[in-house]
Amino acid sequence: MFKKLKEALKIHSIQRKNIILVKKYPFITPIDDLGRRLPKKNYKNYTILDTMPTGWKIAFGEQLCEDLRFELLKFGEDSLNSYQIINMNEKYGILRIYDNGKPNNSRIADVLDQYSQMSMQTCIVCGKPAKFLAPETDIPYCETCILLLHLKTSQLAALRLVGESYEEYEERLLKKD
Ligand SMILES: [Zn+2]
Repeated sequence: MFKKLKEALKIHSIQRKNIILVKKYPFITPIDDLGRRLPKKNYKNYTILDTMPTGWKIAFGEQLCEDLRFELLKFGEDSLNSYQIINMNEKYGILRIYDNGKPNNSRIADVLDQYSQMSMQTCIVCGKPAKFLAPETDIPYCETCILLLHLKTSQLAALRLVGESYEEYEERLLKKD
């Protein structure tokens, strides 16, 4: 009984937080397959911000929203209300953000790019500064979370480091042999 109540309270607090988030940042309102905003009763459990990988969301999700809101408001309330993010996901180890079009002459693209750069240095699982890039995917992880990929500690030295170019990485591996 107590567990059920606790669960209900938790959902209620997520819903309350999402309603506040969507009111402040209309561009993360959940949408249907045609890109239409869902009515309030349907979006309580999640927002578009929840399409962002967890670690990145923890590290800078709301700050990204705040920066976008600031840029959009330079073009007026209408721009704030008509801009919509479709999806935020990871591709080739980097945060990609898809939207419905940016206001002309806005700095929105720069803001999105800035956060994509930041994602390359942030653990995708927990949000702490990343140290390693996973083999093949180039997804950034901190030292603790990369071990969740079933790598052994002894294998870490063979991984590419965050901020290390492929050339530097190859040179380092060759030196080791
Ligand atoms: Zn981590």
